[in-house]
Amino acid sequence: MTLPAILGGTPLRPTGPPDWPGADPEIWEVFDRAYREGWWGKYQAGESERLQAWLREYHSVEHVFLCGSGNYAVELALRSLNIGPGDEVILSDYDYPGNFLSIHAVGATPVLVDIEARHWQLSLDSVQAAIGPATKAIVASHLHGGRVPMRELMTLARERGPRVIEDAAQATGAEIDGRRAGTWGDVGVLSFGGSKLLSAGRGGALLTSDAAIAQQTRNHLLRAGNIVCPLTELQAALVLPQARNLDARNAQRWANVRAFCTEIADVPGVRPFVDADESPMPAFYKLGIQFDVSAFGLSRAKLIAALRAEGFAIDEGFPAAHVARSPKRYRQGSALTEADRAHAGCVQLHHPILLEPPEAMRDLAEAWRRIYAHRDALHRAVQ
Ligand SMILES: *Cc1c(COP(=O)(O)O)cnc(C)c1O
Repeated sequence: MTLPAILGGTPLRPTGPPDWPGADPEIWEVFDRAYREGWWGKYQAGESERLQAWLREYHSVEHVFLCGSGNYAVELALRSLNIGPGDEVILSDYDYPGNFLSIHAVGATPVLVDIEARHWQLSLDSVQAAIGPATKAIVASHLHGGRVPMRELMTLARERGPRVIEDAAQATGAEIDGRRAGTWGDVGVLSFGGSKLLSAGRGGALLTSDAAIAQQTRNHLLRAGNIVCPLTELQAALVLPQARNLDARNAQRWANVRAFCTEIADVPGVRPFVDADESPMPAFYKLGIQFDVSAFGLSRAKLIAALRAEGFAIDEGFPAAHVARSPKRYRQGSALTEADRAHAGCVQLHHPILLEPPEAMRDLAEAWRRIYAHRDALHRAVQ
C-alpha cells in the first residue's frame, strides 16, 4: 500500500486543512454595509437586537444575552444561578478546561465525574452518584459531535435539585430529542469564537427561558446600563448570515461524517463518537474519535503526526481534569475510568474539512488505512 506522507509518500491533501472562517460573500456584504452606513464603530446599530431575535426564534427560548465569549457566558451562567463559595458544581472530568476554571472563578468547587463508554459524554450514572448536599449545579457539555442525553439529565436534576448549565459551544444547532442543544438546561451557552461553527473572532451567548435567571443575568451583565463584557455590533452582524446558514451547513457536515463512519468501520481501534445511523442531527465543531492504541498498534502521538503530515487538522483531545489539576482544587465524584481512556485515546478532527466535497472524507479514511498498513514501520521510524 502507498507510503504515508510522513515516511516519504505523497500527502493525500497536499494543500493542508481548509482555512476557517472560509471565504463567504455574505460576510463581505456585512463589512461593506457597516462601512457604507458608518455603524461599524458605534455602540448601537440594531444588529445585536437582530441576532438576539434570530437566536430566540431558532432556539425557541425566551431570553438571549450576547456577551464577549463562551467562557464568560459560562461564568455568567454560574453567577446568574447564584453559585459561589461553599457550593459544588458537577462537571465531566473530560471537558473543555475553561469550564473547570470558570467554576473556580465564582469561588465554587468542581466535582469531577466520569463519561460514559460509548460516546465519551457526561455519564448520568456518575452524576447521580456524585450529587451531594452542597451540589448546586451540573455543567453538561456536548463535545466533539456527541450529545448528553438532556431529557434524562433534566429529569434527574429536577428530582435531586441542582440546576443545569448546558454548554452547546461545540454543538450549536444540534438537535436533541426534538429540541436544540442549549435549550434543555436552565441556562444554555453558545460561543462565537474564531474557530467555532458561528465565528465572530470572539463572542458568546447565554440562553434561558427562566425569568428569574434572566433577571440575574441582566444584573450581572449590565453596569450602569452598559454591558460589561459585550459583543460588538459588527460581531453580531457577522454572526447573523452564518446563523441563517447553520442548518444547511450542519446537514452537509453530518453527511460527510456519516460517510466517514462507514468508510472507517473496518479499521481496527478507530471509532467515531457518533454512529452513521444516529438521529436527529448532531453538530460538529470537532469530530471526536475513540482511538485504541493497542488495537491499532501505534501510539496516539505518532498517529497524529502521520495524519497531520497527510494534510488533516487532527489533534489530541482535552487532558482529563484530574490529571491536569491538583486534587486540592476539586472533589472526585465518581470513578474516572473512561475519562482516563479519553485522556489517552481521544483524537479530534477540526470541522472545516466537513464542508468539503465527499472526496475529502474518502481521503481521510484512506490516510488512516495507509497509516495502519505501515504501522510497524511508523512505530520504528517516527520519533
Ligand atoms: C470553545 C468552548 C468554550 C468557550 O468559548 P470561547 O468563546 O472560546 O470562550 C466553552 N465550552 C466549550 C465546550 C468550548 O468548546
